[in-house]
Amino acid sequence: MKAAPFDYLRASSVEEAVRALGTPDSLALAGGQSLVPLLNLRHARPSLVVDINRVDELSFLRKENGRLEIGALTRHRVAETSDVVRSDVPLLAEALGHVGHVAIRNRGTIGGSLAHADPAAELPAVMVALDAEFAVHGPDGERTIAARDFFLGPYRTALGAGELLTRISVPVLPGGCAVEELSRRSRDLALVAVFATVTMSGGVCETARIAVAGAGPTPIRAIAAEASLTGRPLTDGVIAAAADLAAAATDPPGDLHAPSGYRREMAAVLTRRAITRAKEGA
Ligand SMILES: Cc1cc2nc3c(=O)[nH]c(=O)nc-3n(C[C@H](O)[C@H](O)[C@H](O)COP(=O)(O)OP(=O)(O)OC[C@H]3O[C@@H](n4cnc5c(N)ncnc54)[C@H](O)[C@@H]3O)c2cc1C
Repeated sequence: MKAAPFDYLRASSVEEAVRALGTPDSLALAGGQSLVPLLNLRHARPSLVVDINRVDELSFLRKENGRLEIGALTRHRVAETSDVVRSDVPLLAEALGHVGHVAIRNRGTIGGSLAHADPAAELPAVMVALDAEFAVHGPDGERTIAARDFFLGPYRTALGAGELLTRISVPVLPGGCAVEELSRRSRDLALVAVFATVTMSGGVCETARIAVAGAGPTPIRAIAAEASLTGRPLTDGVIAAAADLAAAATDPPGDLHAPSGYRREMAAVLTRRAITRAKEGA
């Protein structure tokens, strides 16, 4: 099937893109890895597509004041292979390796993955786990949205009409980390995926961050599981109890790919594996 007709504008600045996105029923085009199939299937029928691929000010990766600042147009593959991402936010680097295939990651962008808000996608869950913040430009200027407030439901975000996601700000968080993912075929979108990062001090867990994808309408932060680990030695028993708490926090959909109960059970298994591996790397 071919896309329904739409107007096309190639923006060369954030200002120009935001002005164009003020047109009713307009959509930004970044890497096109989700939008182009949606256009061709006619699931998306915008009146105007605003191509942001030439907005150079949206492509950057830099460390500032203890945070990693990422331009929304930064390609997955650029971030995945960046030394600073690998050393300072290793959870993000490992998660990026699970996003589709290299060909997808060469074109796909960090901002596009977040704005698309697929509940099974890796990057929304990573950003929720890391307490990232998103800078957004719109007709009324710039505002910041915390990752935990950004994802409202499957493919729904807090982005308002005409708003463009421009920058992702992630606190630097070295330490042990692990991504554990279950999918039907290698590199398919996850049935369930767990993202964990752990720092240890004196044999006890200092900080733990855990988020689950594919187990609810939005990424789920496993707050009770994190609290159960903090300040304790990470024995097998402590990890198993935390994994049960993480699974209890999920609200998995049941569909033809996997029933709800199976996804919840897998959330516990994957959380146990993820914390164990994160602890070993911490
Ligand atoms: C074969 C295949 C396998 C895949 N596997 C995975 C996978 O395993 N995990 C995974 O997470 N994804 C996967 N994807 C999806 C894909 O990687 C991402 O959803 C995609 O890369 C999104 O980024 P993009 O830059 O391509 O965005 P686009 O497709 O250009 O845009 C996606 C949506 O975001 C909006 N948008 C884009 N940028 C902005 C912005 N800066 N501000 C506001 N709105 C914006 C667009 O208007 C559109 O609605 C796969 C895709 C394919 C084709």
